[in-house]
Amino acid sequence: MFKMQLNNVYAIDSMMFGYPHYASCYLIKGKELAMVDTGMPERLDDVLAGIKAHGFNVEDISKIFVTHCEHPDHSGNVASILELAPDARVYCNPIGEKNLLDPGIQHRERMKTLPPEMWSRFVLPKPTPKKKIVHVKDGDEFDLGEGTVLKIKIINFHQPSGLVVYDLKNNSLFCNDLTGNYFADCGYHIILHPPDSQFFVEYEYIKELLKNPPAHLYLGHFGIIEDAPAYLKETFEHETWMIEECKKCIESGHPEKVMETIRDKNLESAKNLFKRNDQKLYDYCTKEHIPPQAQTFADLFLSRYSKLPK
Ligand SMILES: [Zn+2]
Repeated sequence: MFKMQLNNVYAIDSMMFGYPHYASCYLIKGKELAMVDTGMPERLDDVLAGIKAHGFNVEDISKIFVTHCEHPDHSGNVASILELAPDARVYCNPIGEKNLLDPGIQHRERMKTLPPEMWSRFVLPKPTPKKKIVHVKDGDEFDLGEGTVLKIKIINFHQPSGLVVYDLKNNSLFCNDLTGNYFADCGYHIILHPPDSQFFVEYEYIKELLKNPPAHLYLGHFGIIEDAPAYLKETFEHETWMIEECKKCIESGHPEKVMETIRDKNLESAKNLFKRNDQKLYDYCTKEHIPPQAQTFADLFLSRYSKLPK
């Protein structure tokens, strides 16, 4: 199962697209109060309610870390929370600054690339004032007091402006959308492949993490995973299977089956969503989310492998 609190780290259900237990953002309490990711703009009230439910005040937040600025389920409420916490600053990968200044860049891109029923779910986030943005670099450490130190690693497996945040006190990792969507309550698990993601960077990073794994993972989707080593190992095996099966498709002269292989594996996993009794979530995942992401994976995979000698 997932947890909603680990010592001084608190998960908030940001109610992405209205679905419970789909996306999470986090509070970390030292002497200072920091936040990692912020949820989607139309769900600000849910995020604020989550902050309150854990016993905190939004105006006490001093730092917001964004794991990737391109996607509004992570960066969508940065500007709104900065308005409510006027002394706070947002800390991001410099590559993502343009998306905070102008969330319309990604919004317009989605309008061009996504089917209308999907892009119409997205609400344009407010722009973030430039003076509130602080750039981070690889290895930066932030001491929040009371032994709580956050350390930044810049890594672009999910989006170009990606980073992960180590919570040194709890030997745990705010892992961005590494490992995909994993709903521990029902067993749904798919790897994510949005446009501009780097599957092979993710695969190598998980391999690297397994040499010295964190104890816990703070997932973007969803919650705090307690046995990170076992879960990372399972994810690594899942991704290894994807690579091996898709190579077989190419070797047998059927590159079109790469997309089908990934789509069908993820549709199979989606049957677990029935345990949640949420037909709308099932329909969204199986119709809108899984098929286009399988295509993005296939494009990336084929561009790497189809030219290799057999
Ligand atoms: Zn996400």
